[in-house]
Amino acid sequence: MARIELQKVAHSYLARPAGEEDFAVKELDLTWDDGGAYALLGPSGCGKTTLLNIISGLLTPSRGQVVFDGRDVTREKPEQRNIAQVFQFPVIYDTMTVRQNLAFPLKNRRVPDNEIVARVAEIARMIDLESVLDRKARNLSADQKQKISLGRGLVRSDVNAILFDEPLTVIDPHLKWQLRSQLKKLHREFAFTMVYVTHDQTEALTFADKVVVMYEGEVVQIGTPEDLFERPRHTFVGYFIGSPGMNVAPVTIEGNRAILGGHAIELARGYPDTPVGAKLELGTRPEFIRFVDNGRARDSEGLPVTVKRVDDIGRFKVAKVELAGVPLAVVADEDTVIDGDEARIAFDADHVHIYADSQLVEGVAS
Ligand code: ADP
Ligand code: MG
Repeated sequence: MARIELQKVAHSYLARPAGEEDFAVKELDLTWDDGGAYALLGPSGCGKTTLLNIISGLLTPSRGQVVFDGRDVTREKPEQRNIAQVFQFPVIYDTMTVRQNLAFPLKNRRVPDNEIVARVAEIARMIDLESVLDRKARNLSADQKQKISLGRGLVRSDVNAILFDEPLTVIDPHLKWQLRSQLKKLHREFAFTMVYVTHDQTEALTFADKVVVMYEGEVVQIGTPEDLFERPRHTFVGYFIGSPGMNVAPVTIEGNRAILGGHAIELARGYPDTPVGAKLELGTRPEFIRFVDNGRARDSEGLPVTVKRVDDIGRFKVAKVELAGVPLAVVADEDTVIDGDEARIAFDADHVHIYADSQLVEGVAS
């Protein structure tokens, strides 16, 4: 296992990039701790695969260094870096049996036969391929082929890291859950450094101890699932993670208040240093807005909203409301009574964040 550092790494697929926008991965410094379980999360096209291929050595970055345990490996080939990589689609030898496929990475490394036998049996059991070990890979289903691919990634115990690039895309939903649990178990057992790429927040949040969120070629936040929920550092993190995502609305700031559509919202902190000319926004998750008096309030405290729609989703209700024409989502308890199209809402000041040009502003205690 290894600690992996990316130092001032940037990558453009163009020979002569003209500006920032020509970079698939913009300059970043990033450390993956030895033994960490990471998810690399972001929408399609944001640079996840590019970053993964830079770590494994399939790609040499246009700029910067890749360092494993203090050793510069930027110019080393994937084989020299000793990394296992599992791709989105199966990479297997069709004419070999499942057993031969699983054994191949070990044979290649001249692992003793008895160890190979034991390890292949262990992995086959773990990912439920025991019953097909002696069948030719080409006769198997897409699911099973991808499991072989996964097995080939997991079979070596001497790797610096295992990288997964959306490996469960072709796997059916039930099996997905099962395989993800197996990966987590494997991580606990062997403490591999694992980087798991996905565009699916549920996959990321259930697999990883730390989630690295990418957006348009940049890492916008690294944090625990809780960090990402409680304190999104970028508005993108706020609305990409969560269901529904964070409410983001344009505001102006007056002392300890944010003014939204003419209404004042109390803030827990002051923002004397917001950059001049920056686009200011308020961000708050639907879970931290409540209906005053359980939805019955008409002219008491709180701010008046028009209720546009209410969806019952089991233990909660999700309401779409408008505050002075600004759309907001509110997650309310199932016993909230919302009849008619008028209600009043209140914000939880401790969970109202202020963003300048999409970046979280810390603010000062007041
Ligand atoms: P993700 O894995 O997050 O979907 P990628 O890393 O594959 O994103 O792609 C990032 C950006 O780089 C995209 O705009 C994509 O079109 C571009 N890109 C990816 N691979 C290549 C390539 N081989 N040549 C040119 N552009 C590429
Ligand atoms: Mg990709």
